[in-house]
Amino acid sequence: MRLSSGVRLDEADGRCQLPGHADGSHYALLAEAGPCTGLWASWDAHECRISVLADCPVTSPEACCLFLGHPGPHT
Ligand SMILES: [Zn+2]
Ligand SMILES: [Zn+2]
Repeated sequence: MRLSSGVRLDEADGRCQLPGHADGSHYALLAEAGPCTGLWASWDAHECRISVLADCPVTSPEACCLFLGHPGPHT
């Protein structure tokens, strides 16, 4: 895998909130953006994005703290 210089993936990976995943973008919640939305940073080896995403609606058996349509299992 090629990494762009200056990107500290080790540090960024520590902030990713998706449960263990080997590929795809990483996501970290920056702030609540509203009652049911959050401001998320997402990044991969090539770029970083900031987006407002709706909260994941799953509340059973426990409330999921990720965003609507996230990959992988619910938290
Ligand atoms: Zn990740
Ligand atoms: Zn979820």
